[in-house]
Amino acid sequence: SSSEGVTLSLLSEGGGGGEGVELLCVVRSLLKKIKRRVLVGDKVLVGSIDWKDRRGVIENVFERKTEVLDPPVANVDHLLVLFSLEQPKPEEFSLTRFLVEAESTRIPVTLALNKAELVNEETVTLWKSKLRSWGYEPIICSVETKSGLDSLQFYLRDRTSVIVGPSGVGKSSLINALRSNHFGLLPAEVDGHFNSISGSKWLDDQRVGEVSARSGRGKHTTRHVSLLPLSGGGYVADTPGFSLPSLLKVTKQSLPLCFPEIREILSGPSRCAFHNCLHIWEPECIVKTDWERYPYYLQLFDEIRIREEFQLRTL
Ligand code: GDP
Ligand code: ZN
Repeated sequence: SSSEGVTLSLLSEGGGGGEGVELLCVVRSLLKKIKRRVLVGDKVLVGSIDWKDRRGVIENVFERKTEVLDPPVANVDHLLVLFSLEQPKPEEFSLTRFLVEAESTRIPVTLALNKAELVNEETVTLWKSKLRSWGYEPIICSVETKSGLDSLQFYLRDRTSVIVGPSGVGKSSLINALRSNHFGLLPAEVDGHFNSISGSKWLDDQRVGEVSARSGRGKHTTRHVSLLPLSGGGYVADTPGFSLPSLLKVTKQSLPLCFPEIREILSGPSRCAFHNCLHIWEPECIVKTDWERYPYYLQLFDEIRIREEFQLRTL
């Protein structure tokens, strides 16, 4: 959402969601010259404010606490990993990839399993205890029956969240459920237009955001992202993320820390014999014990090792 003459609308910090003033802003050209892109979720300094026409100029962008790339949102402080219990069933390795990608951002992660009404109690209990052993306490929910949405709301409150997960699990449905205002959402968007809500009918504009913008070298497309303000405070991005977890930011050294099981083992009193233990082939490694996802750890380690070796060779 930044190109020549692009305008952003934003809300001043007003606490609970959309209480702020909305201004249509241009980005100071100096900022563009030093390639400071303004992202949705950025805290910015606005000058030259014309209160009558509600216009302003973004003079500076404050330092970001976090930066998620897919979708591009600044200052996200919560990732909701969403899978479904059925249609599609959770696939362990895929779930692990999503969790590792999420953990690698160092942003707090919550895991939720949707479509609960399609499975029996036994299946739910099975997944719960499995995921507990992985270090996660999953929220069981159903967008269809609205069960579990109140617990979800508890985790979404007062934070800026991005919902991530594979296709078909119900991410858009959940976002639309949030939008429909049964679930504590205010009728406003941070980036985009100020919408006054009539009834609970919203356009399903989940993926309309193919905004083409002119950059120095010609055309490139950017996805439109908006933050939906929650009435309890906090925001949810209207665009789901991590369409395919690439793990490109994960290194051999950071991978172990993306597994709560390893973090748990290493937080105990005993230590691996080697200071920089990768927990793969080292003797006297305390991590190489009996935990369910160890084979997945090895598999991902191998993938990252091969990628890093390839990158070295092509330098
Ligand atoms: P996304 O690809 O993750 O955004 O998933 P969608 O939101 O597009 O949902 C995929 C399909 O699952 C749609 O047909 C939804 O109606 C359906 N769906 C979403 N939530 C539920 C649920 O809780 N139960 C059931 N049975 N279907 C659901
Ligand atoms: Zn070790």
